[in-house]
Amino acid sequence: MNSNKIQSITLRRGFFIPSSEIYGGLAGFFDYGHLGVMMKNKFIQCWREFFIKSVENIYEIETSIIQPREVFEASGHLKSFVDPITQCEKCKSIFRADHLIEDAINKFVEGLSPEELTKIIKDAGIKCPKCKGKLGDVRLFNLMFKTFVGPLGNKESYLRPETAQGIFVNFKRVLSATRAKLPFGIAQIGKSFRNEISPRHFIVRLRAFNQMEIEYFVHPEKLDECEYFKEVENVKLRILTREAQEKGGEEIVITAKEAVEKNLLPNKTFAYFLAKEMIFYQFLGIPFEALRFRHMLPEETPHYSKGNFDLEVKFDFGWKEVVGNAYRTDYDLKNHMKYSGKDLTVTLDDGSKVIPHVIEPSFGIERSIYAMLLYVLREDKKRGWDWLDLKPKIAPFLAGIFPLVTKDKLPEKAREVFNMLKGCYDVFYDDRGSIGKRYARADEIGTPVCITIDYQTLEDDTVTMRDRNTTKQVRVKISELKNRLWKVLQEGKLF
Ligand SMILES: [Zn+2]
Repeated sequence: MNSNKIQSITLRRGFFIPSSEIYGGLAGFFDYGHLGVMMKNKFIQCWREFFIKSVENIYEIETSIIQPREVFEASGHLKSFVDPITQCEKCKSIFRADHLIEDAINKFVEGLSPEELTKIIKDAGIKCPKCKGKLGDVRLFNLMFKTFVGPLGNKESYLRPETAQGIFVNFKRVLSATRAKLPFGIAQIGKSFRNEISPRHFIVRLRAFNQMEIEYFVHPEKLDECEYFKEVENVKLRILTREAQEKGGEEIVITAKEAVEKNLLPNKTFAYFLAKEMIFYQFLGIPFEALRFRHMLPEETPHYSKGNFDLEVKFDFGWKEVVGNAYRTDYDLKNHMKYSGKDLTVTLDDGSKVIPHVIEPSFGIERSIYAMLLYVLREDKKRGWDWLDLKPKIAPFLAGIFPLVTKDKLPEKAREVFNMLKGCYDVFYDDRGSIGKRYARADEIGTPVCITIDYQTLEDDTVTMRDRNTTKQVRVKISELKNRLWKVLQEGKLF
């Protein structure tokens, strides 16, 4: 794993751009460049195929980024979406108190009160890591960005810290528009905002980031009746249990079916999503050994939750969550009913009403993409350059199209091929530099196929297709190119 290399490739080739860079940037914000947008869109499309289209009734919506104060009163974010912070009295730097303590004395302090944290800092004699100054009392800091709507500025509102609340507040509308019956899901993909105290690790901890969330609503007594569970019951999961975390043990490998039978996971619906995640992240190129589900410790778990498991990936700086899975029961709908006064129950066939329970898998897009990039980087001394082993469905471009030389009508012929393919696939045309340099540039951004037009093309209308992973080539007729590229997309490789 070479995070320096991935960061340098993706910045140089314009996947990511530090936000407002010409003015010195804004910490915790990144922009997407052209290749980044193409890759992100494909990543999302793959996710849709995996998680939305594979289930009959998950409905995708897109809701407002700004929501009024009332939403976050009901959701609990105003009160509890907080981090403990402490300020150095000398240099005025601000730190997350819990991280500071964990780093300084290796003590896990999640869930402790500001007073308790202040006492630990004093007792352990923890000083400012920058100037060794004295640290002030710990206080709570709300991570939501506040704003005021309207010319009078009197409507207190917030940039959403998660996409989930937009789903709950639209629940009734979606239900009546789709005539959905339990179980069903509502999904949302989009930007969320958190005023993180210390953004870090490139695009892992950002202040503006993209999420893909599903709220899957189920009859409270039917969470073990998941009809899709059979498809994934033999998928192997790696689970780090609470016991292992407390005693410093290892992860266990267990099938989804066994995990439910042994009560490691709360129910089959929950286990279904975990198994799908395991398949999805391995499809992206992250190996089984670098993936694990960590059972959140009691102090990390909200009181209403009946099961929280983070899917974590092993990064160069340690394990980090990329998906949060939570069995949130009826907490959200119940609270929105209470605060809004609206009826958010579901009427069953027999006329009775029920507040459904919800299973929530919540995916972070940027950290998932970064994790994937770290694991698909191939440092290739033999070839002489590095390349990305991206899945054809995810790579920004499916193919590059090159004339062997820029004379003798080869560029014109190559343009013809390019124009034929560009309406069907993401392809690019390149005639700058030697053919070897063009292969290198295409490989570096993970382009699965290079198509070269040479002198033989002018005689028999054939071209060479070069496979990124093996560098092997095959001659095919121009009339067969569309089909061959379709096969590359579906099968994941040329050969
Ligand atoms: Zn200081």
